[in-house]
Amino acid sequence: MLKAAKFGGSSVAGAEQFKKVKAIIDSDPTRRIVVSSAAGKRFSGDHKLTDLLYLCHAHLTYGVSCEDILDTICARFAEIRDALGLKYDVEGEFETLRCSLSKDTPVDLLVSRGEYFTSRLLAEYLGFEFVDAFDCMFFGFDGQIDTEKTYSAIKNAVEKYGKVLIPGFYGRSPTGKVKVMSRGGSDITGALAAAAADADVYENWTDVSGILMADPKIVKDPRPIAHITYGELRELAFMGASVLHEESIAPVKEKGIALNIRNTNRPEDAGTMIVDSVEEEKGEDGSFITGIAGRKNFTVITVRKRNMNTTATLRTALEILDRYKASAEHITLGLDSFAFVTATAALGDSVYDVISDIQKNCRPDDIQIQDGIALVAAVGRKMTCRPGTSGRLFGALGEHGINIRTIAQGADELSIIVGVENEKFENAIRVLYEGFAG
Ligand code: ASP
Repeated sequence: MLKAAKFGGSSVAGAEQFKKVKAIIDSDPTRRIVVSSAAGKRFSGDHKLTDLLYLCHAHLTYGVSCEDILDTICARFAEIRDALGLKYDVEGEFETLRCSLSKDTPVDLLVSRGEYFTSRLLAEYLGFEFVDAFDCMFFGFDGQIDTEKTYSAIKNAVEKYGKVLIPGFYGRSPTGKVKVMSRGGSDITGALAAAAADADVYENWTDVSGILMADPKIVKDPRPIAHITYGELRELAFMGASVLHEESIAPVKEKGIALNIRNTNRPEDAGTMIVDSVEEEKGEDGSFITGIAGRKNFTVITVRKRNMNTTATLRTALEILDRYKASAEHITLGLDSFAFVTATAALGDSVYDVISDIQKNCRPDDIQIQDGIALVAAVGRKMTCRPGTSGRLFGALGEHGINIRTIAQGADELSIIVGVENEKFENAIRVLYEGFAG
């Protein structure tokens, strides 16, 4: 058994969090690959080191001194080191960094130092070999990770050292420079490390006990999801549930590695297990909805034309939308009409041009635009092939006076998406949660 464990910024925010990480690692010797983010917020109002490093870079670019910010960052590391009795020469290393800085310092190099220093300290504390991401995460010329080179380097490191600690978020470009991933990229590093070493599980340690069934800002104390499939997760993430970095799914999914989201502050909680398929016989998850997510501020454009060739007219309308760089999130088709839902912000002021182009090219009898629409998705593998599911969902929304403006069901029946007025968004989520998920 081999586990790769990635710890997010809040899990390594300070010395107390480091202690929790050590307890987790020490309790299971199969956790032999650790990936760390940069120290994050210790309390609300605190700063993530990555954010401070981006700020430093902005100061350098504009020729403004960033000495104070660098002092703050250095002090955070020194504090962790001293509280844990570590030896790492934070001040010396920081001095070298400080002396190398100029307005030409690449932003990627500077911001990667959050992960670098945090991981240096954590490696010493855990007694793991520090393996720099610069030496094992390789980007290709296309900006994507060169998996062949990366996997072989990580595999070798794990075989050589047994227990390795790799900083997340960055790697080496083909021209030998530090290159960072997009924000939250340590999730990707963790997934790649797990895939490279053919780990059995990729544990993603954070500050919640798994993915919640609904947004806790809308539903009070939503239950965490015990099991979810990759397909369901994609639907939920697409509809706005903030979970993992999107690109962290593919490497582990491809290798059939289970992904377990865990809470560093409550290691006794099982968290959420993300797998390819779930054996329903276990009957652990009672409800037929796995999760609910949604997003506000969509525009519905409805086009009506008697006896139209719907496919051809729709194609023309979609091409127009595409020309203005907006995309249709959902499409509903009728005999003499169709409607598409698009993000209002993506449409922006182009809405007038889109309408006038549709008028010109499709010659409809009527076009209607409705703003202020929210999309709410009920996602669940158990909805597949279950008669009456959508009827029950729509019935519950209707009973609470929520008018459904559009309806879409994913072709694989994994999700049912309804469009409601923005003002009814929170209520719709609560109704669905209370009726079908709670
Ligand atoms: N530290 C980086 C960020 O804040 C990467 C990560 O935490 O995954 O985005």
